Amino acid sequence: MPPLPGGCYCGAIRYTISLDDPSSQARTSICHCGNCKRFTGGNYGITTKIPRSSFSLEKGQDSVRVHEADNGSGVTLHREFCGTCGGCLLEYGANAGDNIYVFYGTMDDHARAQVEPKGEFFCKLRDPWMPEIGGLFHKQAIKT
Ligand SMILES: [Zn+2]
Ligand SMILES: [Zn+2]
Repeated sequence: MPPLPGGCYCGAIRYTISLDDPSSQARTSICHCGNCKRFTGGNYGITTKIPRSSFSLEKGQDSVRVHEADNGSGVTLHREFCGTCGGCLLEYGANAGDNIYVFYGTMDDHARAQVEPKGEFFCKLRDPWMPEIGGLFHKQAIKT
């Protein structure tokens, strides 16, 4: 399986994700929590959970900026974004183990097609106009 490529909005940062079987090793999910809304500027965040070891930065290390803070429930959330364009890149919480969550929209078109969403989290915080996505699992709260 060729690596899944992606990058930030301005192109300063490029990465690849190397997985033997993306459909089983990656899990894309939608998160309706307040942190995801604020960080992405949308009404939900959408990220793809992958093993940390599968992610490699191809260029733009100098552009990577980090924001770390308590996510509101006592867990430190680590987020990376591009210092040039401000685009979000990836995130992981202190309890994420050896996984990271790459922001789905940063992957190139053909890469996203291989890791379509499997579930939604924090559905209790879904904006009222946003319909539930059919065929996915739905959880009221925490993203794990
Ligand atoms: Zn950028
Ligand atoms: Zn969230």
